[in-house]
Amino acid sequence: MSIFKKIFGRKSSKPKVVEIEKEEVTVEDKKIIVEEKEIKNKTMSEKIKFTIDGKECLAERGQNVLDAALDNGIYIPYLCHVRGVKQAGSCRVCNVKVAGRTMTACTTPVAPGMEVENNTAELRELRLTIIEALFVEGNHFCPSCEKSGNCELQALAYHYQMMVPRFPYAFPQKKVEADNSKILIDRNRCVLCKRCIRSFKDENGKSYFAFTKRGHKLEISMDKEIAANLTDEKAQEIMDTCPVGALIKKEKGFDEPIGSRKFDKQAIGSDIKSVV
Ligand code: SF4
Repeated sequence: MSIFKKIFGRKSSKPKVVEIEKEEVTVEDKKIIVEEKEIKNKTMSEKIKFTIDGKECLAERGQNVLDAALDNGIYIPYLCHVRGVKQAGSCRVCNVKVAGRTMTACTTPVAPGMEVENNTAELRELRLTIIEALFVEGNHFCPSCEKSGNCELQALAYHYQMMVPRFPYAFPQKKVEADNSKILIDRNRCVLCKRCIRSFKDENGKSYFAFTKRGHKLEISMDKEIAANLTDEKAQEIMDTCPVGALIKKEKGFDEPIGSRKFDKQAIGSDIKSVV
C-alpha cells in the first residue's frame, strides 16, 4: 500500500479527516505541568526589581546595570562595552548615579531596590565632557575616516550635540601601522577602550591585541603572528568591533557610500525603545 493510502485511506485528492485520539492527561503529567509552572514563577520572582529614573525595571541576578537597562528598553550610552565580553569600565561614558555616587553602569551589578539616575542634566554634561576629551586627545579627522557614519564616537558626539570641544586639541604624534596584510592600525583614532583586547582571543586564550608602553604613551598593538594569519572575515569582525576607525580592514575604502551608513540612517541608541 502506498504511503498516501496508508495515511489518507484512499487515493483521492481530498484527504479524509483522520480522527486523532486525544491523549489522556495522567496524574503524572499534571504533576509535571504544576512543577514547570512553579519553576517559571520562581525564576520570575528571582528577577531583581530596581528603577532607572523612576521607571521600574527587572534584572537577572548578577546582571550589570547597563545590560539590564538595555533589556528594559532604556538606553545608557557607552563606548567600551561589548555584550557578553568581560566589562572594563574604561571609557566611563556609561556613568550613572547610584545613591549619589557616580559609577560605570557596565561594571555595577544591579542590587534589589537600587535607584539609578541616568537621564539627568548632570550626567548628560559629564558624558559630553568625556566625549569632548576623547576628541581632543586623539586626531579624529572624520571626513577622511573609513569608519565615518559607522563610528560610535562620532555618533555619540551627534547624540550629545557636540559642536567644538571646549578643550584645546592635543594633536598627539601617533603612529599608523600598516605592516600586516589584513588590518591597518591607526592609533590617531584609538580611544583605548580595550574592546579589541577583550573580544579577540585565540584557542589558548591569548589576546590578538595588547597595550604597549605606559601612561600617556599607552598604545594598541597587534600580535604579529596572529596578524599574519588573519582571514578576511576576522579582519572585518575586528573592524566592526572597534567603536572608532582605529582598526580598519585593508583594501576596504568607501565601498559603503557616506549617507547610507548605520548612524547616517539612525541616531545611536535609537534602536532602544526609550532614548535619552
Ligand atoms: S583599537 Fe579600537 S577597539 Fe582597540 S582599544 Fe583602540 S579604539 Fe578600542
